[in-house]
Amino acid sequence: MYSYPMRGSRILPSFPPLRQAGRGREYNQYSLDDHREVVYNYLFKGLSHRALDRDILGLDPLYSRGFQSMSILHFLGLVDSHKHFFEGWSIDEALAALKPYTHEEAYLLIYSYLLDKAQTYQEDRESEYGVAELDARYWVSQYLKGADDPEQIETRLEYLPASSQEFKYGTSRYYVSSPSLKEALKCKYDFYCQVCHTRIYRPKWVRTLPIKEQWKHLNADVHHIEPLSQGGSDLLENMLCLCPNCHRRFHTQEHILKKAQSHIFVFNQITKDHVPLTIKHAVRLRA
Ligand SMILES: [Zn+2]
Ligand SMILES: [Zn+2]
Repeated sequence: MYSYPMRGSRILPSFPPLRQAGRGREYNQYSLDDHREVVYNYLFKGLSHRALDRDILGLDPLYSRGFQSMSILHFLGLVDSHKHFFEGWSIDEALAALKPYTHEEAYLLIYSYLLDKAQTYQEDRESEYGVAELDARYWVSQYLKGADDPEQIETRLEYLPASSQEFKYGTSRYYVSSPSLKEALKCKYDFYCQVCHTRIYRPKWVRTLPIKEQWKHLNADVHHIEPLSQGGSDLLENMLCLCPNCHRRFHTQEHILKKAQSHIFVFNQITKDHVPLTIKHAVRLRA
């Protein structure tokens, strides 16, 4: 039987009914990442339509006037009564609150976005970085602008700027934040796990898409070898591109990194197996 989400002895209020209104055209123009971030930031942070257009979809609000994110939200049935409804809630509480409704398609979509947010960005939620992942993806796509064939892209990724720098592209300036580096590292590995070579596919991924389009529908985790909380650096040399499974194994210490001569590999402390690590960027392991 379903139990209502509680905080302390208080039953949390139930989610207002969805009021769906057309606008599928705009909804379909945006990626799953866009949908997820628009929904998340509307429900949890109460961002206005204009702010969502500007900060999440990267549009000029003078031109878009908030209509694009409004259309996405209206398509899902999210209206004023839902704005910042989940402010102060944990994602798990929000998921529990949505669960009784999930047989309806719009609820199912909203539920899947929040589930995705909870699973994919676990590490970001724990870190101090508040910078939207979408900003990071946007930055990486700007950085790779003009590089179209796989070889050009690969070359461009070879020269990823170091962390926390300002980067000039044409007349624009981009601040290279840690999430940007993380996104760029995922691109560098084509979203393949460095340990098990698994890749996480999202709906809409198609093999025949150009590589940069494929990246919009793939997913991977980035792990800091030495945690930032323990003084680890926020540089690529301290990062690995992993699938969520292998990522978890590092956090439970099942997997540890070892170095023999100058060769870095993974050691499984349970099975006592040595697992090779695919390395395409300079990785630094503290002695
Ligand atoms: Zn893996
Ligand atoms: Zn990690």
